[in-house]
Amino acid sequence: MKIKMILPALTEAKSPYWRPIKYSLFPPLGLATLAAYCSPDDEIDLQDEHVEVLNTDDHPDLVLIQVYITNAFRAYAIADAYRAKGCYVCLGGLHVTSLPDEAMPHADSIFIGPGEDSFPQFLKDFRKKEPKKIYRNQERTLDAIPPVRRDLIKRSHYLVPNSIVVSRGCPHHCDFCYKDAFFEGGKSFYTQKVDAALAEIDRLPGRHLYFLDDHLLGNNRFATALFDGMKGMNRVFQGASTVDAILRGDLIEKAAAAGMRSVFIGFETLNSNNLSQSNKTQNLGRDYNAAIKRLHDLGIMINGSFVFGLDDDDETVFDRTVEWAVKQALTTCTYHILTPYPGTRLFKDMEREDRILHHEWDKYDTRQVVYKTKGLSAEALKKGYDKAYTDFYSWKNVYLASIQHDSLKHAIKHFCYAGGWKKFEPLWNFMIKTKGLNAMLPLLESILSKVKKDPKSNESVSPFPAIA
Ligand code: SF4
Repeated sequence: MKIKMILPALTEAKSPYWRPIKYSLFPPLGLATLAAYCSPDDEIDLQDEHVEVLNTDDHPDLVLIQVYITNAFRAYAIADAYRAKGCYVCLGGLHVTSLPDEAMPHADSIFIGPGEDSFPQFLKDFRKKEPKKIYRNQERTLDAIPPVRRDLIKRSHYLVPNSIVVSRGCPHHCDFCYKDAFFEGGKSFYTQKVDAALAEIDRLPGRHLYFLDDHLLGNNRFATALFDGMKGMNRVFQGASTVDAILRGDLIEKAAAAGMRSVFIGFETLNSNNLSQSNKTQNLGRDYNAAIKRLHDLGIMINGSFVFGLDDDDETVFDRTVEWAVKQALTTCTYHILTPYPGTRLFKDMEREDRILHHEWDKYDTRQVVYKTKGLSAEALKKGYDKAYTDFYSWKNVYLASIQHDSLKHAIKHFCYAGGWKKFEPLWNFMIKTKGLNAMLPLLESILSKVKKDPKSNESVSPFPAIA
């Protein structure tokens, strides 16, 4: 059977002139995971439109399209085109789960929730020529998932081909997060078996890994066993955690010993009213500064994530947040304009209060204001958001944040990582277009190599001259 798997891209991601690096980071792991359930005799063509021109001249027996909010209209157009040719089209993913009624007219079958049990069932039904219209996930377990079909991934197109996911979901329930909508009606956090996760890691070439799990440190027992098992594997890795998990016990030390060199943390806001209103209770009363110090002492760089536009924000929030991040030596920051994704509690609340401005999903990209704001105007929110990015990644602030570290090596790594990420976009663009992105991986690995702190050293940072 000929199977086409497609991850459609939003328009910006496939511009022939300018390709932002963020769209060429990770391969379509979800589709490659589902591909593992197909028969070895199936001929599978997996295309990621973020990194290649989509070929739609073919006539596969089955087309599987992954839909997320900003690619939804593009996904529906591709689906309609294949159905017009007589191909059988399936749609799945976060957006389909949130809005099945919207997706349904564009598909022969849709998948609601994770596909680990429903996709194999669909394949059986499809081969018997008895496919159903809707497949809803019933069983939540990763115990029997086959190895991801990484042979279908065009590694050279990605900066981080070794992305990996060893769990699903997250133990928390923030109001703005997609997670609860996707996992509604069952477990919303579960992990692979540790041995299977370690075997998957072992299969990956090179040193660098990027765990795409929502919360890699979310299950203490699993994460402890994983990090213990990874010790001695000579890996360097990046992943996500909460402030709470970093402060608790010694899990973060174990992660560092296993090779963790950078962590994504959802600080979201420095305002406790905003945290309470968003049900981000795991951050409430937690000492952000202590978590940051602990990470820096372990030589772990921090990518802080922040949301602007929560109801308690005013026009001072942007400068305050940037200043704090620079002072705390966060290496990179990801800023978002609050975005009420359909299916979330936030969306339901805003809809009830008549605060949703429109349903143009391609604008729900966390860079545009799609709801009626409260504490500040929509214009001020957009302007402040743009300014926060410009300010945080100014050379001056990259430098000032770098020199907060008490190790020279950490300061240099910080400077190279932050500068490289945001200041060399033309180089990234060139590497993407010439399909040479993967050649940058050794550089990334060397920046992520271990920072050894000499306790006797009084080395106080600055490799650079002081500036005002
Ligand atoms: S901690 Fe992160 S992944 Fe978990 S529910 Fe909150 S926003 Fe979502």
